[in-house]
Amino acid sequence: MPNSDLLARSLAAVWHPCTQMKRHEALPLIPIARGDGVWLIDADGRRYLDAVSSWWVNLFGHGEPRIKAAIKAQLDTLEHVMLAGFTHEPVVRLSERLGQLSGLGHAFYGSDGASAVEIALKMAAHYWRNLGHPAKHRFVYLEGSYHGETAGALAVTDVAVFREAYAPLIGQHFVTPSPDARHAQPGESADEVAERAAARLEHLLARHHGEIAALIIEPLIQGAAGMAMYSPRYLQLARAACDRHQVLMIADEIAVGFGRSGEMFACQGAGVQPDLICLSKGITGGFLPLACVLCSDTVYTAFYHDDVARGFLHSHSYTGNPLACAAANAVLDIFEADDVIASNRAKAERWDALFAPLQAHPNVVHFRRTGMVWAFDVIDAGAGFAQRYFAAALAQDLLVRPIGNTVYFMPPYVLNDDEAALLADGALQALDAALATGDTDHDLSLA
Ligand SMILES: *Cc1c(COP(=O)(O)O)cnc(C)c1O
Repeated sequence: MPNSDLLARSLAAVWHPCTQMKRHEALPLIPIARGDGVWLIDADGRRYLDAVSSWWVNLFGHGEPRIKAAIKAQLDTLEHVMLAGFTHEPVVRLSERLGQLSGLGHAFYGSDGASAVEIALKMAAHYWRNLGHPAKHRFVYLEGSYHGETAGALAVTDVAVFREAYAPLIGQHFVTPSPDARHAQPGESADEVAERAAARLEHLLARHHGEIAALIIEPLIQGAAGMAMYSPRYLQLARAACDRHQVLMIADEIAVGFGRSGEMFACQGAGVQPDLICLSKGITGGFLPLACVLCSDTVYTAFYHDDVARGFLHSHSYTGNPLACAAANAVLDIFEADDVIASNRAKAERWDALFAPLQAHPNVVHFRRTGMVWAFDVIDAGAGFAQRYFAAALAQDLLVRPIGNTVYFMPPYVLNDDEAALLADGALQALDAALATGDTDHDLSLA
C-alpha cells in the first residue's frame, strides 16, 4: 500500500487528536508501520527516534518483549470481565502492588488519564459530602496546569487554547500561582519561589476552605505548561496547608509517575503523601489504555456504608481490563528485575554530559532536568518555532515536539548511550536549522 494512499485515507476517515485538521493540507502525517525499542519505523523503512515516548506513555521502548509476552499469556485465559460483582487475578495483584508502592491501598480503575482525574475529582467532592460537608465541592489548581480534556478535567486545566471553546460547559474553580522555578526574581532560589507560591495557596485555602474539596497538582513537573519544574518544597508546604484547612490533596502523577520524576512516584521524592494519586500513561508501558486512582483508607472508609448512595457508583465499561492489568504487572516486574530507578539515575547523569552543548547554545535558557525529563527554552525563536523545530527534528530522524518555545526530551528509559548521543547531536542541529528558517506563518505550538 503506497504511503500517499494511506495518508489520504487517514485524512478522510480519521479525526486526529489535538490537531486543526486543515493544517494537514500543508503538513503530511507520518505513517508508522512498526516500533522497535526507541525507534518508530515508517512505511518506507525510515526510522525516527521517539524522544517523547509517544506522548509520554512508552517507558521501555516499543515492542518490549516482556510486556508483549504478558499480554499474550493473558489473552489465552481471560480477555475481559466486568469488574462490578466480579474480580480477577491481574487486577488484584496490580492493586496490591500499587498499594504497596504508594502507601495508598485502594485502587479504582479507568481507561485514560482524564478518566482518572474525573474519578479523583468526584471522589474528593463525594468524600466531603459523605462527611456532612456538601459545600466542599470546588477545586484548586495551579496556573499552567494540565489534567486532561474531559469536561471535569478541563475545569482544572489552565491552558486557554484547550478551554476557551468549552467555557460554558465547565465548572468554576480556584486557580493559584505556579511554583515554576523560572518565575524566580533576581537572586531568588527555587525554594523561595516555592515558598512565595505556597503563601498564595495558604491565603486562598484560609479564605475558601469551606467550599474547597481538594487541591489537584502535577507533582514536580507541570508537563503541558512546557515542563515547568519546581522545588519539592512546594509539595511539602501545599500538603501542610491542605492539612491545616481540611482540603484533600490529589497528586496527578499521570505524566510523572512510574519513575519519570526520578522516583517511582514524584511525591515520594518530596516526602509527601497525597490523599489520592492519579496514574495512567506509563502504567502499561504504552501498550494498552489503563488508568488508576489510588486512595487512602480515610477516603475509602467514608464511602463504606449500608447506604448505596454513599458508595462510589462511578464506572467505565473497561474498568480493570485484565489485558491492561497484565501489561501493568509486567511493567512493575521490569522495575524490579532491571532496578530501573537506580539505573535511570546513572543514565541521566551520563546524558546530561551529552546534552551540555545544547545547554551552552546561545539561544538556550533555563536548561533543566528532573529525573528522566530534560527541557530548555529557546529565546529569539520567532513565531511558529514549535512547528519549525518539529520539522527540523524529523529531518534529523528525531521525534521531538516542542511546547511553545520549550524543547523537551522524555525518552523511553531503554535509550542507550549511542542513541542518547544521536539525540543530543540531532537536537542541536535541529535547533540551528529551526532558528535559521526564521518566521513562518505557522503559529500553532501545541504539545
Ligand atoms: C496526559 C495527562 C493527563 C490526561 O491523560 P489522557 O490519557 O491524555 O486523558 C492528565 N494529567 C496529566 C498530568 C497528563 O500529563
